[in-house]
Amino acid sequence: MFTPTPERLMYEGKAKQVYATDNPAEIVIHYKDDATAFNGVKKASIADKGVINARISAFFMDRVAAAGVPTAFLRQLGPRDQLCQKVEIIPVELVVRNVVAGSLAKRLGMQEGFRLQRPLLEHFYKSDALNDPQINEEGAVLLGFAQAWELAAMREYSLVVNDVLRAFWDGLGVELVDFKLEFGRVGGRVVLADEITPDGSRLWERATGRKLDKDVVRRDLGDLGDTYRELYRRVFGESLA
Ligand code: UDP
Repeated sequence: MFTPTPERLMYEGKAKQVYATDNPAEIVIHYKDDATAFNGVKKASIADKGVINARISAFFMDRVAAAGVPTAFLRQLGPRDQLCQKVEIIPVELVVRNVVAGSLAKRLGMQEGFRLQRPLLEHFYKSDALNDPQINEEGAVLLGFAQAWELAAMREYSLVVNDVLRAFWDGLGVELVDFKLEFGRVGGRVVLADEITPDGSRLWERATGRKLDKDVVRRDLGDLGDTYRELYRRVFGESLA
């Protein structure tokens, strides 16, 4: 079990904290119960959210690793704590879309729900101050945010992650609409970093269209705690203890 202490806190984000460990090559990611939307403008604390997200992320990281995607995730240390490789985060977020929703729908003045023939990958420059503006791969290379080979690896890995996640959610009657991934550099290679959770995904119940993700908070559609506990039950076949 890992005990987070203030002296070891390296970074605090909206939903997670990052702690140093005795090994300079490893960090601990601690999942909090805080939920934010609209780049932190809307905030809520949701009981057990951190525990749910940590377990779901660990579960998916293991699955995508088994499918050949290198990840920074090493192992779960406690209900909210994960041991991960320390990486240098590449400042380009990748969004994979299977269905038009969210910022894409808004940007193009489209209704949500249009199913894309194949996954659409979009890139965003990781900057809270600028609200993560969209950027294309050429821009990311020319501005020095990432190298072309890194973006190629990110693209390839993202599509594998999409195949794995989509098949999994499909089996639970849930449509994977879109999700965001972050990657890091370590030892001269690119690895999947950060998290794979309902916080960074859109999930729609197939039969009803009900939203099972953070849009519940963004759009005041109900209780996110109940939604996340239900997702947990579906994924693990048991209620959260
Ligand atoms: N997303 C995220 N963090 C961000 C931006 C987007 O996790 O900073 C996720 C979001 O939850 C959704 C997907 O990426 O599943 C696509 O988000 P979109 O670009 O539609 O933006 P949003 O509607 O979140 O503003």
